[in-house]
Amino acid sequence: MNLILLGPPGAGKGTQAETISSKHGIIQLSTGEMLRDAVKAGTETGRQAKALIEAGELVPDEMVVGIVSERIDRPDCANGFILDGFPRTLGQASALEKMLDEKGKTLDAVIELRVDDEAMVERITGRYSCSKCGMGYHDKYKQPAKDGVCDKCGSTEFTRRADDNEETVRARLLAYYRSTAPLIGYYFAKDRYNYVDGMAEIDEVARQIEDILT
Ligand code: ADP
Ligand code: ADP
Ligand code: ZN
Repeated sequence: MNLILLGPPGAGKGTQAETISSKHGIIQLSTGEMLRDAVKAGTETGRQAKALIEAGELVPDEMVVGIVSERIDRPDCANGFILDGFPRTLGQASALEKMLDEKGKTLDAVIELRVDDEAMVERITGRYSCSKCGMGYHDKYKQPAKDGVCDKCGSTEFTRRADDNEETVRARLLAYYRSTAPLIGYYFAKDRYNYVDGMAEIDEVARQIEDILT
């Protein structure tokens, strides 16, 4: 099963991808995560992406299309994958369609997490994650069961993303409306489009996604 999760920054894509991934045994592919890894590793891609990420702007299509194409060829994706944060432009969407065709893979569903824009700044500025396993949390909406200890791996170290500040979030929302929102119409026309209420509680959003997948 191959899926796309669509929605603005803070919509809950990473949170829901984590749940779908463990429930269905398919791989979560976050282009944001891959780019941050490249920045950390200091690769050529990372060096080019760094300033754009910090400014809340999109990186060029070629940069992410290549990474995704190479990633979905790996054996761990044979069972399926969840694209979280890709495609983000119409150019990326048609490149994806072409590469899936060439690889003999299909796109099973696109699910939009429909949210209120006003809530996204609070979601993003309260977001943090486990430094060791990457599990996502929120100051108010998703705290670990035991204070200061990761539910998944037991680590006591957490990090916040440099671009998760109010100013950059507004730039990222703008990039979403300028470049990514048209994908809703694109996938509706392709008969792949579904949506869930992304403002519901995390477990309820997961239930609505399950209804679509089963
Ligand atoms: P995205 O990957 O779409 O940018 P995340 O999954 O990282 O979004 O979620 C952003 C923040 O909001 C995280 O801190 C997460 O714990 C929290 N969050 C996710 N879904 C919900 C929800 N349905 N209600 C409240 N908070 C949520
Ligand atoms: P969010 O949690 O806001 O959805 P991501 O982790 O998906 O953020 O992405 C972080 C940043 O990485 C984006 O603001 C953008 O600069 C870059 N990025 C990630 N995915 C893409 C993509 N598919 N196309 C262009 N830029 C991307
Ligand atoms: Zn952890």
